[in-house]
Amino acid sequence: MKFCSLSSGSSGNCQYIETNNTRLLVDGGFSGKRIEELLSSIEVEPNTLDGILVTHEHIDHVRGVGVLSRRYDLPIYANCNTWLGMEKSIGKIKENNIKSFVTEEHLDIKDITILPINIFHDALEPVGYIFFYKKIKISIITDTGWVNDNIKNHIKGSDLYLMESNHDVNMLKNGTYPWPLKQRILSESGHLSNDYAGNVLGEVISGNRETILLGHLSKDNNTPDLAHRTVKEILVNKGINVDKDIKLDLTYRDRITKVYNL
Ligand SMILES: [Zn+2]
Ligand SMILES: [Zn+2]
Repeated sequence: MKFCSLSSGSSGNCQYIETNNTRLLVDGGFSGKRIEELLSSIEVEPNTLDGILVTHEHIDHVRGVGVLSRRYDLPIYANCNTWLGMEKSIGKIKENNIKSFVTEEHLDIKDITILPINIFHDALEPVGYIFFYKKIKISIITDTGWVNDNIKNHIKGSDLYLMESNHDVNMLKNGTYPWPLKQRILSESGHLSNDYAGNVLGEVISGNRETILLGHLSKDNNTPDLAHRTVKEILVNKGINVDKDIKLDLTYRDRITKVYNL
């Protein structure tokens, strides 16, 4: 199984997952043209995709979804509330490319089994995704204000985690954002801080060669170095030898990560 974060952050989100038979995007938060460019940098033709899974209707997750679906005849997968929420912004979608799933129920796309799970964010019915292929498991959890036991239980044992590490709480509190926006981000339907991400990861990983990617980093209220350092410190304090036991990497707002082979 292969994974590549094509980009992650408030200006756009798009993740790529591949097996021998199946190629999926999670979100398409850039223009169609930009997503085509990102895909071509890993030598993937958009018309070879099997579909796009949407986490929630915010524009940084759906901007190019409709364009790609129309241009390459791609199915879009989302729950009914997300379909309602994104209807206007993604434009007209061909009937047989409208795929609805039920959150917390498994669905299969070719050889990948997918479990969409409830997360907590100011969208209609936002989800995280867990992907299963043979013995490999990938979890994507971004855009959530908190992580409950249900999420922790579901993501435990993944080989790769894309975990939101949006902000440093002090940078956010002392920064220039208006107070209501600060409150929104800090709320239980906002975004996860570096500390929060570190603590969740500390609870769910076992130090067994997992790959951890920190995602949805804020441009204004975080730095890649600070996010990495904060999460690393928390994991080290929990007895994990970060340099040896796991791989702790970052995702980027405007470029791809390497392609992870699991
Ligand atoms: Zn987002
Ligand atoms: Zn969002």
